[in-house]
Amino acid sequence: MTTDTGRPRRLTILGSTGSIGVNTLDVVRQLGGRDTFEVMALTGNGNIELLAQQARETGAKLAVTADESQYIALKDALSGSGVDVAAGVSGLDEAASLEAEWVMAAIVGTAGLAPTLKAASRGADIALANKECLVSAGELFVEAVRAGGGRLIPVDSEHSAIFQCLDNQQRHALERIILTASGGPFRTFTRDQMAGVTVETARTHPNWSMGLKISVGSASMFNKALEMVEAKHLFSLRPDQVEVIVHPQSIVHSMVGYSDGSVIAQLGTPDMRTAIGYALTYPRRPKLDVERLDFAKLARLDFEAPDEARFPALRLARIALERGGVQAAIMNAAEETAFNAFVERRIGFLDMAEVVEAVMDRLVSCPPASTIADVFAADAEARRTAAQIITIREQAA
Ligand code: NAD
Ligand code: MG
Repeated sequence: MTTDTGRPRRLTILGSTGSIGVNTLDVVRQLGGRDTFEVMALTGNGNIELLAQQARETGAKLAVTADESQYIALKDALSGSGVDVAAGVSGLDEAASLEAEWVMAAIVGTAGLAPTLKAASRGADIALANKECLVSAGELFVEAVRAGGGRLIPVDSEHSAIFQCLDNQQRHALERIILTASGGPFRTFTRDQMAGVTVETARTHPNWSMGLKISVGSASMFNKALEMVEAKHLFSLRPDQVEVIVHPQSIVHSMVGYSDGSVIAQLGTPDMRTAIGYALTYPRRPKLDVERLDFAKLARLDFEAPDEARFPALRLARIALERGGVQAAIMNAAEETAFNAFVERRIGFLDMAEVVEAVMDRLVSCPPASTIADVFAADAEARRTAAQIITIREQAA
């Protein structure tokens, strides 16, 4: 893919060593690699060997580890390669600042917010996988992209599906969007069964292969909770226009309902490379080597209503959407803190939602954020409150 001037399109991948990052590099390879794209910056965290290998293979200008203690290791791994090396928050900022026209935002969690905002405000097209930054910064994030002049192209499979189904000439006729959810590994579990599950079982997603946080989030349905907020901001929807349906096969990636009763859906095999490729070559469709759907083999597609009693995350997302302001930032930060405590085996699986709800109840006042500093302040307060609640629960146990 060349630009108007005929030179390869420049791209940066924030979070290149993760599941989305690795898939993005695979798509880049499929679409011609160095002949088609010029890789400006790649960033990772702890996985230095993989980051160095990616930087050498792509001929990236800059490789950044978010973990400052790994700076020397990365420098050593890339010595003689001609790749510049940086680390920490300032390194991520440098990566986001390099003149790439297209930036994949694939860092996990709120850690991705600052560098993604930097890339957005200098006008890059943002391919957004890192939903947490949109959940926490909401309108401010959308406004930063608008002010920068670049495009915001969703990569989350559901939001990519909706983006593909939207008829922008008929926005007035849009009634609702329907996010599909696989239901995760505990779709048929009772709450008693869920109470004892481990991180190892919670991370085994039935259809998608993904990073740890989103896999656990799929099991608790907090991932869908974040996606409800993500959809509201991406597509400027009212909370009552955002619906969720459980669809265990993950073939229908999401749907859009219009005022004439029509529902338009996007389907595919569960492979993130389709959504990544769509974001990379938008508005053209690339040719990708991904498995094609075989409807005769599929035979059936199932749908069922989500159970908010067993999966309270969906109810909490509705509360966050209705309260507005920084409440979604609070929900997101509390969820990240509770998730970390679950992974460290300090709390159980069901405790995650209880901690998030307790934080949202305590920090119920949620004025709209007028600056990103307000978002970071709400995020920090939610993390502190969640940490206190987790400690109290541990002491009581
Ligand atoms: P992952 O855990 O596999 O990768 C995360 C990336 O972020 C890695 O490159 C890691 O080095 C980097 N990272 C981790 N902590 C960091 C920190 N503190 N500072 C800077 N960088 C850090 O995650 P993933 O599954 O690839 O998901 C990435 C994002 O994409 C998440 O927001 C997730 O919700 C979203 N997403 C993922 C999928 C998927 O299929 N994996 C699908 C839809 C959306
Ligand atoms: Mg998704």
